[in-house]
Amino acid sequence: MHFQWYPGHMTKAKRMMQENIKLIDLVIELVDARVPISSRNPDIDELGKNKARLILLNKSDLAEDKWNDAWSEYFREKGFSVVKVNSKKGGGIKSINGVIQEACKEKIERDRKRGILNRPVRAMVVGIPNVGKSTFINALAGKACAKTGNKPGVTKGKQWIRLNKNVELLDTPGILWPRFEDQAVGLKLAFIGSIKDEILQTEELAAELVTFMNKNYPGVLESKYNVEEDTDPYGMIARIAESRHCLVRGNELDTEKASVLLMDDFRNGRLGRLTLEYPDAY
Ligand code: GDP
Repeated sequence: MHFQWYPGHMTKAKRMMQENIKLIDLVIELVDARVPISSRNPDIDELGKNKARLILLNKSDLAEDKWNDAWSEYFREKGFSVVKVNSKKGGGIKSINGVIQEACKEKIERDRKRGILNRPVRAMVVGIPNVGKSTFINALAGKACAKTGNKPGVTKGKQWIRLNKNVELLDTPGILWPRFEDQAVGLKLAFIGSIKDEILQTEELAAELVTFMNKNYPGVLESKYNVEEDTDPYGMIARIAESRHCLVRGNELDTEKASVLLMDDFRNGRLGRLTLEYPDAY
C-alpha cells in the first residue's frame, strides 16, 4: 500500500512553525496515545530545541492504560513533561496549568533573576493532522477565555489566548507533517484515520488491521463480531460482512461495507482500548 503526502503543505507548515516557534517558551506537542512514536515528527526536536517541552498523550481513552503509563515514563526519561489527556471529555485538562508552570520553571527563574516579574509563559500547540489539536485548545481555553488580540511589537495577526495570568497560548496550532518514508508508520496513521481515506483502499487497510489484531489482540474480533477464527484477513472480513448482514443486491457479501464498519469501530474505540506500538521497540 502506498501513501502520499503533499510537499507544498509540508513546506508551508514548516515555515509557519519556524516563524511561530520564535515567539514561544513552551512547545505543547500532542501525540496519539495509540501510536505515540508514529504520530510524531522528530523534526520538532530540532525546531523546538531550547524550548520547554510538554508531550500530551491525547486520545488516551482509546489506548490501553498500562501502555499509556509506560509511554509517559518513556518520554519523561527523555526529559519531557508528560500528561495523559482525553481532550474530547476533558480528562487530564485540569492538571495542565500546573504542569506548564513546572515545565517552564527554569524560564520563570531566569526572568526573575533579570527582574522580569509575572511575564506570562507563551505556549503553542503542535501535532500532526487529526491528533486533536483544536479539540485540546478548546478544552483548555474553554468559553470563558477571551482572546487577547493582536499585540503590538509581536508578529502581526497572531492571536493569543490568555489562559490565566501566567499562561498565553497561540490560538493557531502548528501542523507537523507525518513521516511517510516508513510504510509501517504510514499504515498505523491510516489505521487511526490520520490519512484521508479517499487515497486508501479500504479493504486492503481493513485486512492489514485484521492481521494486526490477530497478532496483538487475538480473539477480540471473534468476540466482537461473533464470528469463527479465520487466519486469512480477507476471510475474516467476509465473516464480519456475513455476521453484520453487509450485503449487496440482496445476497452477495459487501466486504467493502464491512471494511468501513471495522475501521470505524476500531477508530471509535468500539473494539476496546488498543495500543498499536510499545516503548520497548524504541
Ligand atoms: P486536529 O486536526 O489536530 O485539530 O484534530 P481535531 O481537534 O479536529 O480532532 C480530530 C478528531 O479527534 C475529532 O473527531 C475529535 O473529536 C477527536 N478527538 C480529539 N481528542 C480526542 C480524545 O482525547 N479522545 C477521543 N476519543 N477523540 C478525540
